[in-house]
Amino acid sequence: MAKDKVAIVTGGNRGIGLGITKRLVNAGYKVFVGARKNPAIGKEFDNKVFFHHTDVREEDDHNKLIEFAIKKFGNIDCYINNAGYSEWMPIDKIDDEFLSNILNTNLKGAFWGSKAAAKHLKKGGSIINISSLAGKRGSSNNSAYVASKFGMNGLTQSLAKELGPRGIRVNAVCPVLIATEGLLEALRTKHAPGNQNPEEFISNFTTNNSALNRMPKSDEVGDLCVFLASNKASAITGQCINIDCGVLPQ
Ligand code: NDP
Repeated sequence: MAKDKVAIVTGGNRGIGLGITKRLVNAGYKVFVGARKNPAIGKEFDNKVFFHHTDVREEDDHNKLIEFAIKKFGNIDCYINNAGYSEWMPIDKIDDEFLSNILNTNLKGAFWGSKAAAKHLKKGGSIINISSLAGKRGSSNNSAYVASKFGMNGLTQSLAKELGPRGIRVNAVCPVLIATEGLLEALRTKHAPGNQNPEEFISNFTTNNSALNRMPKSDEVGDLCVFLASNKASAITGQCINIDCGVLPQ
């Protein structure tokens, strides 16, 4: 009997991560979600999605998440470092706590996830980092988040070279504004663009920047992850692929 395909998605319990989880399930994966909260995501996901309490800032939590998956299904095929958050802050107001939190979650979390995954992934396996268009260009009041995502793209390129000889691929996807709970909350804070009016900001940003006159959806990020995890992407590694409706053609 063919083995179940197994994917791990950090932060796969809401927002973009939930979109990824759902698309992986549709593609036949068993999905292990690592996050701090466990919201109900629907009966139809019983026995297809498994939750394990995880704080991505803690290295050992990634090891335990993988051990949990391996105990249940014997293998992992894909590890997706998605957990993260954004918060705008001008440079003169960034303190150690603010910077450590954002780097420890977005960047260090992806390091520990990749390190743990690299121990267990076999030939044909892959790591996918959910980066951002903020990993490709800077923007005002956003230096900490931007640095975390540029770092994630650097991690992606380096690990593609390091793990490639073992047949393990490493890619990043770089979405632009998707109106998740996390983004809307961040856009309501004092130093965010758009004068604390997220809906108006996203609408104006779309009109002025998007080639397709819309923003991407979480499900579309999920579809890209399913493709990158699959054999159809067997020649693709070390890439940081924009999913941005043409905001930043490259
Ligand atoms: P949400 O805030 O909606 O979801 C964030 C997810 O990350 C939650 O599942 C949360 O789970 C988890 N998470 C956060 N901190 C931790 C932690 N310390 N340990 C474990 N899990 C954690 O955000 P989005 O869906 O918008 O963002 C997901 C990813 O996509 C992030 O990396 C973000 O930077 C990136 N991104 C988002 C864009 C957007 O426009 N929305 C654009 C580009 C990139 P819990 O709180 O239960 O732990």
